[in-house]
Parts: sequence; C-alpha cells; structure tokens
Amino acid sequence: MVTIDLSGKHALVMGVANHRSLTWAIAQQLHHAGARVCLTYANERLKPMVEELAGHLHGSLVLECDVTQDRTIHAVARRLTRDWGSLEVLVHGIAYANKEDLEGKFVATSRTGFQLALEVSAFSFLNVSHHMLPLLEKNGASLLTLSYLAAERAVPNYNVMGSAKAVLEQSVRQLAWELGARGIRVNAVSAGPVSTLAARGIHGFLSMQRHHAEKAPLRRNITKEEVGKAALFLLSDLASGITGEILYVDAGYHVMGV
Ligand code: NAP
Repeated sequence: MVTIDLSGKHALVMGVANHRSLTWAIAQQLHHAGARVCLTYANERLKPMVEELAGHLHGSLVLECDVTQDRTIHAVARRLTRDWGSLEVLVHGIAYANKEDLEGKFVATSRTGFQLALEVSAFSFLNVSHHMLPLLEKNGASLLTLSYLAAERAVPNYNVMGSAKAVLEQSVRQLAWELGARGIRVNAVSAGPVSTLAARGIHGFLSMQRHHAEKAPLRRNITKEEVGKAALFLLSDLASGITGEILYVDAGYHVMGV
C-alpha cells in the first residue's frame, strides 16, 4: 500500500489568514502525514486567529512574516535554523493587490499597484526560497506555490493578479531548473475558485465561481481540502519525479474550449 509519511520532516507554510485559507488546508494535510509545521501570518491582526488554528497542530510553530520586509523573513530563517536545522517542505500561499486594481481597468493599473502585486504575489516566492536555501538544501526539499488560471488566460477583473501569477508560474519553472541541481523540487497547484479572504477581494468572484461550477467537467467547484490533498501529493515522495509542474486542481475547468 502507498502511504505518505512525513514524520521527521519540517514544513514552513506561509500565508495563513484563517480557517478558509488554502494554506490552512495544506498545513492540516502535512500535519496528519506527520510533518512538524510552522505557520506564518502577515501581521499582528492575524496573530490570534493563526495561533488558535495552530493549537490544532500539535508541536507547531507560529511566526510573523510580512514578505515585503526582509527582516521578518530573516527572523523566520534564524528561528528555523535554531529550532529545526533543516526544512524539507516550503508552501507559499501569499498574494496581494490593491482593491482598486482588482476592479478597475487593467490598462489603468498604477506603477505602484503593479509593483506591489508582483512583489508580494510573485517575487516573494523567489525571495523566501533564497532566504531559506541553506535549510532547504540540507536534505533536499519540496517547494509549492499556489496559482490560478489567469496566469495564462484572460479573466475579467483578475487584472494585475493575472500578471503576477504569470510571473509566479515562470518562477516555478526557472527555480525548478536551478534548484534541481541541489535536489530541490518546485511545483505549483493551480486551484479553481474557492471562497477565501483573498478571493473575495476579486470583483465578481461569486459569479465567477458559479460559472466554473457550470462549465467544469465535474460540474462543481473544488474544495480547499482537495487543494490540500493535491499539495500533499506534490510535496511528498510520491511525486519524487515531478518538478517545474503546474498541477490543476479545478474540477477540470482548464481543459474546456467553450
Ligand atoms: P487567503 O486566505 O486570504 O490567503 C492569502 C494570504 O496572503 C493571506 O494570509 C494574506 O494576509 C497573505 N499576504 C498578503 N500580503 C502579505 C504579505 N505582505 N506578507 C505575507 N503574507 C501576505 O486566500 P487564499 O485564497 O487561501 O490565497 C492563498 C493563495 O492561493 C494565493 O496565492 C491565491 O492567489 C491562491 N489562489 C487562490 C484561489 C482561490 O480561489 N481562493 C485560487 C487560485 C489560487 P492578509 O490577509 O493580511 O492580506
């Protein structure tokens, strides 16, 4: 029988906001598979919620990390070096764009809005991987980020976040090539729409979700638990031969032509 056993492995899961977060579903799967988990949250406002969630994951750590502040990324790396000494799993589930850039005209995206969205949602994956590299290369790690179909298709209102996801997916491939030489795998899950804090920031998200459910081969939306299970597969040894891959967890929506 094939089982996933992550006991003895250390997993850094970045970008937990609340119990709806896709990263929370992934963290639960990693914990159940036996990994020790460190959750990071963006700011003080989220701390009580994330600490409460972490209470369900025995032995987990909770640290603050705003990816626009290198000092907080350094602090996480220092703490994990001291407490764990290695990282076998890194999950990046972080995205942000100004509200006006997710409902106005894409053509009118401001310079600062474009920079912010790409910095937080794409550059951060690269930057965090860089800061964690000494920990990641100890035993050969598996990295995962979360993307969306707007990386490659035009999606109304997704605007600058589509640009960020395109850069993110290219980073997955480029990092896979570069870090493969150190035994590190890099993949992404491209998830269908799930109602989370970030998703609700997209203008018209609920009608987009209804449209997905009507058109997808499975005739329904996906759940965050399905994202968690696919992520666990990619992060585990079952996927030892897979890197640079974008795995669609979208009830098949992306295969449709009409
Ligand atoms: P979520 O729960 O709102 O998670 C997004 C996280 O990013 C939040 O914890 C958010 O914190 C964090 N973040 C924003 N700016 C940050 C910063 N400067 N430093 C550190 N963290 C920061 O929503 P989610 O839907 O699960 O999103 C997780 C990932 O999945 C995102 O990359 C998203 O694009 C992707 N995704 C989502 C869907 C979907 O339909 N839900 C589909 C495909 C892909 P704050 O709450 O403080 O901003």
